[in-house]
Order: sequence, then C-alpha cells, then structure tokens
Amino acid sequence: MLQFEHRYATLPAPLWVASQATPVASPELIAFNTPLAEELGAKEVPDATTLAGWFSGNQPVPGAKPGALGYAGHQFGNFVPQLGDGRALLLGEVVDQHGVRRDVQLKGSGRTPFSRGGDGRSPLGPVLREYLVSEFMAAMGIPTTRALAAVTSGERVVRQMAEPGAVFTRVASSHIRVGTFQFAAARRDEALLKALADHVIERHYPEAANAEDPYLALLEAVVARQALLIARWMSVGFIHGVMNTDNCSIAGETIDYGPCAFMEQFDPQKVYSSIDQGRRYAFANQPAIAQWNLARFAETLLPLMKEEGDALVEQATDAIRRFEPLFSAEQRRLYADKLGLAADSDQAMPLMEALESQMHQGRMDMTATFDALTQDAASPNDERHEALLALTTQPNELVAWLDQWQQAQVASQDGERFTAMRHANPVIIPRNHRVQEVIDAAYDGDFAPFHTLLAVVTKPFDESVEARRLAAPATENQQVLRTFCGT
Ligand code: AMP
Ligand code: MG
Repeated sequence: MLQFEHRYATLPAPLWVASQATPVASPELIAFNTPLAEELGAKEVPDATTLAGWFSGNQPVPGAKPGALGYAGHQFGNFVPQLGDGRALLLGEVVDQHGVRRDVQLKGSGRTPFSRGGDGRSPLGPVLREYLVSEFMAAMGIPTTRALAAVTSGERVVRQMAEPGAVFTRVASSHIRVGTFQFAAARRDEALLKALADHVIERHYPEAANAEDPYLALLEAVVARQALLIARWMSVGFIHGVMNTDNCSIAGETIDYGPCAFMEQFDPQKVYSSIDQGRRYAFANQPAIAQWNLARFAETLLPLMKEEGDALVEQATDAIRRFEPLFSAEQRRLYADKLGLAADSDQAMPLMEALESQMHQGRMDMTATFDALTQDAASPNDERHEALLALTTQPNELVAWLDQWQQAQVASQDGERFTAMRHANPVIIPRNHRVQEVIDAAYDGDFAPFHTLLAVVTKPFDESVEARRLAAPATENQQVLRTFCGT
C-alpha cells in the first residue's frame, strides 16, 4: 500500500536500532485515515482485517523496516542522556504526493531496546485523544503529526488500573527532536552529530545548505518554525502539557500529544497535566519554554558552527533571541484575524490584551468567546451582544471593550476580514470533557461517540447542530480539571 524508503536507517547505529513489534492478542481496527493514506500515495486500501494486522504490529507491513530511534531529553528541566523510542517503531519513510518525505510510526507496539522499565504499550485512552487532537490541529492548519490508524489490541495494559490496550500509527514530517541532537551531542561523537545535522538540513531545511554557516542557518530555521508553531498553539488555547526537549520537533510540528488540553475558562497560568506540579508548562509559559528548548538545541550545534569563542556563543544567543520578534509578529497577525481587523491594525495587540483580561476576570470560555465575537461581527446592527454578554460574569466591563472593538472594526473590516475571522475562530475544539466521554464510551466497547466527535472536530468551522451540541463548554459537573499522560 505504501512505498517505503529507509533513509534515516542509514544513519549510525544508536540513532536507529532495528527492532520488531510484539504481536498483540486480537487486533481490531478502530479507525483508518484513508485521505491521509491517499496523500501518502496509497492507491488502494485493504480490508479492515489486513489493516488491523499491519497497524498493530501483528503482520509485517510490506516494505517496512521497523526500528526504534535513539534520543535524549530534558524532562521537566532534568537531562536524561538516553530515552529513545521505548514503545514506538519507525516503519520507514514515504515520499508523499507533494514530494515531502514523511515518517510512518507505530506507537504502543511493544518493547524496544530503549524501553527501560516500560511495557512498550499504550492504553486506548491516549490513543483516542491523540487521534482526535492531532486531526483537529491539522484541520486548523496548525503544523502537527497526523493520525493514520488506531487499532485495539485485545489486551490489557496496567496503568493506574487495567485498561484496554491500543496501537496508534502516526505520520510525521520526521520524528527528529531537539532530544535527538542532545543524544548525539551527549555521546561526544562529532561525526554522529554532523551526520544527523546534515540529514536534517537535506530533509527539512535544504536552503540552509547554501548559507555561509549551514549549522547556524539550521538553528535559525528551527527557531523560526517553533516561533510560528507556538503562536498558532496559543491562538487556539492549546496547552501541550509536556514540552520536554524530547517532545520538541525539529521540523516544527506539534508532536507527542500526552496530557494536552485546550483552554476553557481563560487563565494564562492554566495547567491541566497531572504531572506538571511546578506549572512549568502553563499556557503562558509556552513561548519561554520553547526558547529554553531551542537554547538546548543551540548548545548541541556549537561544535559544528564556524565561529569560535565568545563570538560563537553570541551568535547562537542572537539566533535564539530572534524567536521573540518572530513569535510576536505571528501572534499579532493571528490576533488581527481573530478580531476581524486588518493585518496591520495597531489595535490588534492592545485589544487582545484587554480582551484576555476580560476573559480571565469574567471567567469566559476562550473558544466560545471568539465564536460569539465572530457571530457578533456578522450582525453589526445587533447592539445587544446577547451571546457574548452571557459568557461573562462582568458584562459592564465587556460592553466597554466591545465599543472599542467596534470602533477598530469600522476602521478596518470588510467581507474578506470576516472570512479570515471565521477561519481563525473555530466553532468547536476537542473539549476535554468531550474527549473524556468518548474515551469512557470506548472503554465500554462503544466507538460511535469517537467517530462522531472526530467527524465534527475535523470540520472545525462548520456550524451543524451536532457541532453546536459538542462545542458547548462543560457544565460545572462535566469539567475535566486534570489530564493524565497515561503512558
Ligand atoms: P513521552 O512521555 O510519551 O514523551 O515518553 C517519554 C519517554 O518514555 C520516551 O522515551 C518513551 O518512549 C518512553 N515511554 C513512555 N511510555 C512507555 C512505555 N509504556 N513503555 C516504554 N517506554 C515508554
Ligand atoms: Mg515523547
């Protein structure tokens, strides 16, 4: 079905280690992403039994050459020199219909040489969450790994309790992380590091090869992609939850959806992850953490860069500092879209900052607020703003803000701006309580709610009755306050 190539496997051994999947008891297909398979060049898709066999690891996928990838990482600030794919296998790379090389990886397929104490498995809940959230991000145009398949294993995995197991198949621009560079650097093997960096330049940043210092150009390019990515996350209230350096993609995609969640009532300090007790990865910390991760990336590249001594460090520091202006410019552009203002409006930032404080003080749901603003902008003669005012506990303050917003709009809005606004403000996000409902139903053997939610969140701008029903914020009893890694 897929034409595999194996370029990463030619890199020196600890970066790629041959490893086989451990078969599962009775695989059953939950979902297969046919449009994505077609994008990867699949001409025909086999039946569900064949797919379940392949994407559980029970049957060899034709042309695949499974291997686990070595990487290191700073986990919550502490360096671990060897992590690696403890429960994942790279099947190979596929050059897609746009000519882009992409990895296909099984996750939850059993133990590997990097498993340490782990069982190499994945519970069903995190598989469903990753499927839903990554496909939503893709539908929003936010760079992300994709979901190709999900299969139940017919086995139990034991976490806080025994849970059904599953295997997830993920497609990524690559699985190379900041932690992959840290892994090579920690081994003090410059040839290994250079082989990795050259592979990345050829694969992801070919223009860097022509720069005066290709490795400095690589650093700058990765900084730029991360800056744009984090701005996109923040624009939809996404909280990754585990921004360790091993979960920071060199290609600038969102990767490793663990205890991730979307902001509901706006609070810049919001953390959902049960393991983030120091609030290191709180919503508003994400740009600073991304820069911290990029500084770790820069450190690994120093031996390859041309400059020397203090000048070298200064050069690398400057490259990391470029994150801020790039992030701010992208954020300003996104804010202008979210508020329906012209891209160059000088009102976008101050209005957004004031609105964030309104949302925070007035306990407003972020997605519902922007959706209501979008509808408000579509009916300019409605002076009552009922839908919006129903969202806040401080309506008088919000009315004052709405006046300022409308003045800014008069200055810059037209039909096209409205379209941009609708596309910046989804009707629906995969809300935490909805994802939890889907997981609970699946644990009872019912996958219908998963398919319904998936269909709706992958068309996030459609306003069907179903979308409106599933878009509604959680009531007090439905609220999910904590999310779990589930690894
Ligand atoms: P994550 O939190 O998913 O980013 O994983 C961090 C590290 O732990 C990676 O090296 C994973 O491969 C490893 N890991 C997570 N869960 C398991 C598991 N069930 N078995 C083996 N390794 C695991
Ligand atoms: Mg990870």
